[in-house]
This record gives sequence, structure tokens and C-alpha cells, in this order.
Amino acid sequence: MTSTKPPETLLQFASRFRTEKQCIAYLYALRWPNGFVCPKCGTTKAGPLKAIPGAMECENRHMTTVTAGTALHRSKIPLQTWFMGAWLVATLKPGISAVQFQRQLGLTRLETAWTMLHKLRSALVAPERDKLNGECGNPSHTEHWIEIDEVYVGGKESGKERSGRGAESKALVMVAVEVHGWPAGKGDPADDESGNEGGTRRRGGKADNEIGLRTKAGRCRMRIVEDGKAATILPFILDNVERGSVIWTDDNPAYNAASRAGYHRMITVAKGDANPLPTLGRVTTNLKRWLIGTHKGAVQAQHLQAYLNEFTFRFNRRDYPWIAFNRVLSLAALGRPAVEYEGLYKHTWIHPNPTQGPVQAGFFHDE
Ligand SMILES: [Zn+2]
Ligand SMILES: [Zn+2]
Repeated sequence: MTSTKPPETLLQFASRFRTEKQCIAYLYALRWPNGFVCPKCGTTKAGPLKAIPGAMECENRHMTTVTAGTALHRSKIPLQTWFMGAWLVATLKPGISAVQFQRQLGLTRLETAWTMLHKLRSALVAPERDKLNGECGNPSHTEHWIEIDEVYVGGKESGKERSGRGAESKALVMVAVEVHGWPAGKGDPADDESGNEGGTRRRGGKADNEIGLRTKAGRCRMRIVEDGKAATILPFILDNVERGSVIWTDDNPAYNAASRAGYHRMITVAKGDANPLPTLGRVTTNLKRWLIGTHKGAVQAQHLQAYLNEFTFRFNRRDYPWIAFNRVLSLAALGRPAVEYEGLYKHTWIHPNPTQGPVQAGFFHDE
């Protein structure tokens, strides 16, 4: 049985996906981790059909191909090229442009590169489903909490101001970030991200750094919202954060609803210019740099949620980028509503938004 543990290095990748056959075996193993089952009759008695590469035939003469109905099926592009594309998309932190993608894969037409790239990337823009809870089981961590805030993203200026020049081109985004905390000297020093942006969370007049608490970010979630009212904030929290979690917010009274819904809500107040939610501040600073740097800030409003989902996906797997590889391949092999070039070009494609609930079928085991 072919292993579905993704390759971790370029060298491993090169030896594991040298041939079309190896790629096909990997796709089969991803789709049927416990061995092949005929989708038509359920039998496990089946063998490869010699005449068609990648096809299986069961004892009742049902023919199955692992790529049927997907972007990979009867594609003129070899599976190895698709796999390399998935690898580039999954592991290159800032993402990759269509021109770079075309060059790296040796594709003749830019349109082909562009379409492939978007098909592969659409796996990253599906919303994440599991809820944040912070608990990680690391015995040196003494505290876990989730920082939540609304921030303005896009436009020419950054910051939280609600009116003024440039505000009309910004989107309001709800952000939630898990935080792990431990006393100075106890946790792994390499994990320490505390205080990079000069912010600090305060309670009872004391700041985290004054009591020697070190912190690092866990996972995050982001959603474009219409406003910062309780009726908007609460559904975001319910969808993304496990009830019973400790949440830290600013003093916006709209968050009072979260206390009534079963969250342990704590309030932190800004002192001077310091960000009272420092870990969340570091994440949103990264987001803004990524949008400006990789995408030159030229993100259209209708695509912003897709970028937020992609940022979230990469951020949450920043320590294990190759894990994204199976997920990226999944799109191609799942045959989910494909992002077609036409749809993207004409802006008829609607990016999945977490408010619309889960859309992901779940046979890919990427975590
Ligand atoms: Zn069958
Ligand atoms: Zn932890």
C-alpha cells in the first residue's frame, strides 16, 4: 500500500513521484486509505485495468478511475506536473504567481498555468471547519486563550478607524487567534513570540510582560463581516470558537453577548498606542504585509474572503507546509465545483465564505 504521508523535502518528492504510476497509486491511497472499494457495488475485489492507465475494474466489471470527473481527468498535463504544481502551491509560503508557475513547470501557455494554479489554490480557500479551543496538551503551557477583534483590511491606510479617507475601500474582518502562554524560562524559547509588536494584554493593571508571561500564536480564523454589532460578532464566535473557552476582547459592549453564550470573556484596555491584543495584532500585521507584498495590495473586495481563507490555511500550517500538499491535491481529485477559468475571468465564481457552512467532503486526512 502506498503511504499517504506527504513528502517533506524536494528530494523525497522527486523520488516518490518520478512516474505517472507512482502518482496514480498515491491518489488511490489518498482516496481509499483502507484499500480500494468499488464505488458502484462496494466490492473490494478489483484489479488494475491494463488498457487504461490508472483505471480499476472490479469483479462485476465496473470501471473506476481515480481522476474521473476531476481536473486531472484526461488532462493533457501529466499527473507529475499536477503533483509538482500542488507541491509549489502548498509549500511556497507567500504563494506563487502564474508567470513563475508557468516557468517552473515548463508550461507553454500562460492560460494553462493560470487555470491550473487557480484549481490547485481553490483547495486552500475552502473554509476551515474545526473550532479553536487553544488547548494543546503542552505541559509547560499554563494558559490558553483566544483573542478576538474586528479589524479593517485593505484600502490605502491600515488601522481601526471607522471613518475617514480610504475607509470606504476597506473591509471589516473578524479575527480570532489562539494564544498559548507560559511563564518565562519554562516553555521552549524557540516558541516565544511575545512582544514583537510592542503590544501587551493587561489585566488588573498588570501587563503580560510584567508578570513574565511568554506567548505564541496558535491557529487563527478570519471572516469578512458587515459591522461590529453583537448580532454579527456572536455568530462568528459560535462558529469558530469552542464554548467554554477564555476569550479576550477590547471593551466593545457587543462582546457582552459572548459571555451570555457561555464564553469566559475577559476585557483588555489599550494603554497608549500599545495593542491590547498583541498576538492578534501580530497576525493581522502579517496578513496586511502578505496582502501588500505578495498581492501588491491589489485584492478586489469580491476575492478578499478567498485570500483570508488562504492566509488562514497557510498560517495554521506554517510549521508543516507539506501537509497542505494532500489537501491541495484533494481538490483536483475530489471533483468539487471547479474554479473554471471562465468563472474567474468573468467573476461569476463565488469564493466559499465560512458563513455559508462546510462545503468540503472529507476523505483527505491532512491533520
Ligand atoms: Zn463494482
Ligand atoms: Zn499550548
